Amino acid sequence: MTVAEAWQAGREHLAALGIDEAGITAEVLLRHALSLDRTALYVAWSRPIDPEGWARCQALLAERGRGRPVAYIVGHREFMGLQFQVDERVLIPRPETEVLVAAVLEALERTAAPVVADIGTGSGAIAVSLAMLRPDARVVATDVSSAALEVARANAARHRVTDRVRFFEGDLLQPLIAAGLHLDAVACNPPYVAPEAAGGLPPDIRDFEPPVAVVAPGGGESFHARLVESAPRVLKPGGWLVMEVSAGQAPRVVELLHRTAGYEVAQTRRDGLGWERVVAARRAGHEGTG
Ligand code: SAH
Repeated sequence: MTVAEAWQAGREHLAALGIDEAGITAEVLLRHALSLDRTALYVAWSRPIDPEGWARCQALLAERGRGRPVAYIVGHREFMGLQFQVDERVLIPRPETEVLVAAVLEALERTAAPVVADIGTGSGAIAVSLAMLRPDARVVATDVSSAALEVARANAARHRVTDRVRFFEGDLLQPLIAAGLHLDAVACNPPYVAPEAAGGLPPDIRDFEPPVAVVAPGGGESFHARLVESAPRVLKPGGWLVMEVSAGQAPRVVELLHRTAGYEVAQTRRDGLGWERVVAARRAGHEGTG
C-alpha cells in the first residue's frame, strides 16, 4: 500500500461514517501518524507506507470515528497563526474567537503599553495571542479550572511570553479585583450554552469538550451579565469590555449594556458566517473622542 492509497482508504473510512471534511481529516491524521509535514507527505506520496505507521494511522482514524475531535487527537490547533497545545482539559480555540482578538487589538490601537485581561482563558489562546501581537502589552488571565491553567501556562511558555502573561485561578474578574488591577481592556469568551440546550450540542462538543467551558449554569447570557456588572470595577475610564457571544445572543447582551450605567454605546462585530459574534463597550468617563 502506498501513502496515497492509505490516505484514500482513510478518507473513505471517515466519509462512510458521515464525518465532515473526511479528506483533510485523513490527511492530518496520516501526517500525524507518520510524523510528516505537508511537504514531506507529498514527497512520500507514491512510496509504500511503513506498516507500523499505517497501524498508528488506523488507530487515529478509529478515534476520530468515535467522535474525538481532531485537535485533541493530534494535540494542537492553530489560532491567530500560532500553534496552541490542546487536550481535553481545554476548549478547542475556534476561528470565531479570532474576531474577538481582532476587536481587542483595534480597541487598543492608540493605547501604549496596555494592560489587558483574558477571562476564562482555557488554552490561553486569547491571552497568548494578545501578548504575541502586542509586544508592549501585559496580560492577566483567569480561569476557574486549574487543569485548563496548566495548558495555558504551557502555551505561554511555548510562545515565550511568560514574563508578560500572569495567570490567576478564580471566578471571572474576582482575582483581578482582589489584586487591585486597573485595565485597558477585558476580553472574554465565556461559556454560553444554556443548560437545557447542552443535550442538543453536536456530539464532538457534548462528549469531549469540558462542560465547564461550554455550559453556562445560570443561562446563556449569565456570564455576560456578571461581566457587564463587575467590569467597571477593574476597567480604567475609557477601558473596553469585549465579549464573544453565541449566534443570536448579541441583541440581548447589547441590551444589558444599555441598561447598565457606566458604559458607552456598544458595538458588535460579525464572524465569517455573518453572525454578530463580538460585543464591545467602553467604560464611560474618559476624555477626548470615543
Ligand atoms: N478563552 C478560551 C476558552 C474559552 S471556554 C477560548 O476562547 O478558546 C470558557 C472558559 O471559561 C473555560 O476555560 C472555563 O474553564 C472558564 N470558566 C468557566 N466558568 C468560569 C468562571 N466562573 N470564572 C472563570 N473562568 C470560568
